[in-house]
Amino acid sequence: MGQIGERIREFHQLVPAGVEIVAVSKFHPASMIMEAYDAEQRSFGESRVQEFVLKYEELPKDIKWHFIGHLQTNKVKQVIGKTFLIESVDSLKLLEIINRESEKANVVTKVLLQAHVASEETKFGFFPQELLEIIRQGSLENFHSVEICGLMGMATNTDDIQHIRRDFSTLHNLFDDIKKQNLPVLKNFEYLSMGMSGDWPIAVEEGSNIVRIGSAIFGDRVYT
Ligand SMILES: *Cc1c(COP(=O)(O)O)cnc(C)c1O
Repeated sequence: MGQIGERIREFHQLVPAGVEIVAVSKFHPASMIMEAYDAEQRSFGESRVQEFVLKYEELPKDIKWHFIGHLQTNKVKQVIGKTFLIESVDSLKLLEIINRESEKANVVTKVLLQAHVASEETKFGFFPQELLEIIRQGSLENFHSVEICGLMGMATNTDDIQHIRRDFSTLHNLFDDIKKQNLPVLKNFEYLSMGMSGDWPIAVEEGSNIVRIGSAIFGDRVYT
């Protein structure tokens, strides 16, 4: 078994049962995904529409694709019906379009709402107060072709472990606050996706049940 396969095995040993591992394969070729696939990895994460669609066409159909990048509304149509989970829903507008395109395609699309708790301004997502307000106003009630399955978020990119832990804990509290409202539209609200190669152990300690691991499995990405 090659290095990628070995790393997949290691991660499945390290990460506690009940926490899903998404192998983030963005910027890496299909051949590397197949090395992980041969080690029985089935969940993969992609962040660019064109790259994702090409890989989707080429690779085995039992792969569960997680879309994790910023999704432009004019590209939504291309991904509908191909994802297991769109993790990066960062605006109501985007949710509306996903709902509309899913309805047209006669599918229900599972999504996570992306929350912004990190200190950087560059990260996408709803601010916690904004999200709670949207839910309080009942704005999610009319989307019948999406299933809102939970939250995705990222911690601040810093070496300060306490800061990272605080970000994850904020996400977990937000997740709990939303879940306890017990709304019918949130009956499948169960995933808390947080943690990447550099910070996943802290995320798991803070209650994550999906970790998104890229470079620690596939090595460094070469950005094009
Ligand atoms: C790229 C990416 C990851 C994986 O990052 P690594 O540090 O390589 O593990 C996880 N989540 C999101 C949203 C990403 O864009």
